[in-house]
Amino acid sequence: MAEAKQYLMAIDLGVSNVKAGLVTRDGKIENYIEALSPLESGAGGVANILVDTCRQVLEEANISTKELLAVGCSTPGCVNPDTGIIVASATPGWAGVDIRAPLENSFELPVVVEGDGAAAALAFHSFGPTRGQNDLLGINIGTGISCGYIVQGQVLRGAGQAALEAGHMPLFMEGRPCSCGRQGCWEAHCSGGALRTLIGEFQNAGHQLPDLPEEVAELASANHETALAIWEEQGLLLGLGIASLLNVLNPKTVVLGGGYAKSWPLFKKSLLKTARERAQPRHAEAAIVCAFEPERASLLGAAVSAVREQGLDDFFIDPS
Ligand SMILES: [Zn+2]
Repeated sequence: MAEAKQYLMAIDLGVSNVKAGLVTRDGKIENYIEALSPLESGAGGVANILVDTCRQVLEEANISTKELLAVGCSTPGCVNPDTGIIVASATPGWAGVDIRAPLENSFELPVVVEGDGAAAALAFHSFGPTRGQNDLLGINIGTGISCGYIVQGQVLRGAGQAALEAGHMPLFMEGRPCSCGRQGCWEAHCSGGALRTLIGEFQNAGHQLPDLPEEVAELASANHETALAIWEEQGLLLGLGIASLLNVLNPKTVVLGGGYAKSWPLFKKSLLKTARERAQPRHAEAAIVCAFEPERASLLGAAVSAVREQGLDDFFIDPS
């Protein structure tokens, strides 16, 4: 391994914001920053925001690109890791976007792009209590739901590099309209985006609720009846989708990540009850847990993905 290169640049591109930071050999994230709204900037704007955000991280850390081993970027939707191009995305205008080229051109370093669900699963496979575990299902919940599955140490990819697009798993025939243009998809009913829609409906029906899911989470933590009921229902709907995934994949462990999962204590009970009751008995035995720092999972996973692509699987040292 090159002597001085102890850092990876990790980026987590989201629908509403972009996060970036330096990842160290023991999996710590340093010089973490967030920037807003790449979606509104279109594909070209997204490239600029990614590059600018990374430059800001380097500036704050006072290091040069020469001290970086590689760049890893996670993104919503499905990505072909061989090309760095988004092959499928429910977000309008994102399919076909080349995430890798602008970063590679700007930093002259190896750049790896990974779907955020797969990235989260890789993070759970590399760190924490599920380190080294196989048959591991990672579920990353932000604006939408992304999943990744680790089998025999590898991400399950599918014929078109688009396996585990579980957020768009049809859950109801006559369900809520989804960003993908269909209706009744899993993430149209339970996710950060779904929650915003739901809160709006409650407000229109005369309920006094704040606008943001995190504010409704605060209310629920203070035992507000309506807020508690909303999160309980979210858990039920998440559990229903997880029951299907348990039956299909038969995972050993399911780990939840993403900003939405920070509210785990509010929806854990109804999620576990529904998943256990609705999955087949043997399948329902899987452990279902929340990550230690759920909001960092796909960012850390982007770094893991970059390291694996370089064949440097021993880059990360076990902090325990
Ligand atoms: Zn959909």
